Amino acid sequence: MRIGHGYDVHAFEPGDHVTLGGVRMAHTQGAKAHSDGDVVLHALCDALLGALGLGDIGQHFPDSDPRWKDANSRVFLCHCAQLLREHHYRLVNADITVLAEAPRLGTHRAQMRANIAADLETTPDRINIKATTSEGLGALGRGEGLAAHAVVLLAHAENGNHGHDHGRSHHRHGR
Ligand code: MG
Repeated sequence: MRIGHGYDVHAFEPGDHVTLGGVRMAHTQGAKAHSDGDVVLHALCDALLGALGLGDIGQHFPDSDPRWKDANSRVFLCHCAQLLREHHYRLVNADITVLAEAPRLGTHRAQMRANIAADLETTPDRINIKATTSEGLGALGRGEGLAAHAVVLLAHAENGNHGHDHGRSHHRHGR
């Protein structure tokens, strides 16, 4: 098993939407970013890369590279999924926290989980998305941007535990 953590933040700029978890949401501002500014997917990618010991998203997708200008961040997540396969790891679960005064995730949450699960070839029950405000404190609290934390747990395909929390078919020790 390997654990990874990721964090990302983007400031707001004039705009009419933000993209979180691959879902475009109407908002009074946009995320200032080289790519689509999806803090959820950027934090998640960093968590996955961290768990694999493969550095960070900036090393894999430099923002100086014109290929990633306005990039759909699901491309980054699919790249991480490919790295997981190459290293014979699979996602046990991901827990993501969005820090923003607005927008509220509300009904978008299910689609965010579905997008992430699809890209990581798993099921939405393994992807949790939480949200919190900063209670008006600091830059995020003043609504100057938004941020996300992500924590992931990976299981190696060869250790007999395929990441099924309740599976017993590979249980070696009995109980
Ligand atoms: Mg970012």
